Amino acid sequence: MRREEFNGFVGVDIGGQTTRVGTFDRRGQLQVIHFPTEKNFVTECNHIVEAARQLVPQGIKRLGVGSPGPLNWRKKLLIGKSPNLPWVDVDFAQLEKLLGCTVWVDNDANVAGLGEAILGAGKGKRFIAGFTLGTGIGHFQIKNGHIYHGRLDVEAGHQILDPAGPVCGCGQRGCLEAFASAVAIQKLYGVAPHELNDPKTWEQIAFRLAQGLVNAAVFVCPDALILTGGMLARGEMLLEPLRRFYEQMLKVYPPRYRPPILVGELGDKAGVVGAIVLAKVGHAE
Ligand SMILES: [Zn+2]
Repeated sequence: MRREEFNGFVGVDIGGQTTRVGTFDRRGQLQVIHFPTEKNFVTECNHIVEAARQLVPQGIKRLGVGSPGPLNWRKKLLIGKSPNLPWVDVDFAQLEKLLGCTVWVDNDANVAGLGEAILGAGKGKRFIAGFTLGTGIGHFQIKNGHIYHGRLDVEAGHQILDPAGPVCGCGQRGCLEAFASAVAIQKLYGVAPHELNDPKTWEQIAFRLAQGLVNAAVFVCPDALILTGGMLARGEMLLEPLRRFYEQMLKVYPPRYRPPILVGELGDKAGVVGAIVLAKVGHAE
C-alpha cells in the first residue's frame, strides 16, 4: 500500500507522556500533532478530536488508536488501570460519538507492529512477528495485513526463559521481560540501556533476547522478526551479539529459511503510523 492511500485516516498513539495524532497528506507525507497526555480522559478526547479535525478538515474517514493495555479491543475499553496511564476503565468509543466515525483500538505493541509490517521493515511480507523493546517487552503478530489476536493478547514478552529467574512485573519469574527490558536492565545491572557500555553485559542481554526470538521463530515461523522500540538506538552493541546467538541457537531451519531479524524503519513514529494503518484496515475478526 502507498502512503497516499491513507489520506483521511487518522491515527492516535497514546503514550504515558505524549499523545501523537497523525495522518498522511495527499502527497503521502506524515503529518503529526502531539501534546502531553492529559490526566483527565474527557480533556484527552477533546484534544484528540481537535487535532484530528485540524489534520483532516475535509472529514475524517476513520480513526485508529494505539494505547497501553490492558484493553478489550472488541469493546474499545481500557480495562481497569494501566500501569502507564492515569485513567481507569475508560471507553474509547466516546471518540466515535465526538467524531461521528468508526474508531478501532488496539494495544500499542500490536499497533507499532502493524505500522512496521505494512509501511516499514516488513512491507510486502505476508506474516510478521516481532517485539517492542522498551520499558517493557511487547509482542506482535501481523498476518495478511491484520493484527493477530488470541483469546487475549499474545504475551510473548512474558515467555519464561528460566523459572528460577528474576521476578517479573507480571508476577511470573524469569520472563524475557524480566531479563531484557529497560526496567529489568536497570534493576539487574544498575544502569539504563542508553548508558550501558559494557560489551559483556550486552552479551548477556542479547543471549536472553536471542532465546526469546528463537522461541518466537519455532512457534510461529514468520517471514521476518521485526524489532522496534527505544533499545534499538544501541545499534550493533545489541544487534551483533543478538544475531550471533540467534544463528547459533536456531538450527531447525536451514539458514536461508531462518526468519531474518529486521530492525524497524519507522523509529518512534511506528505507533502513530500503525494507528493510521489500523484506521484504514481495521480488525480482521
Ligand atoms: Zn512477565
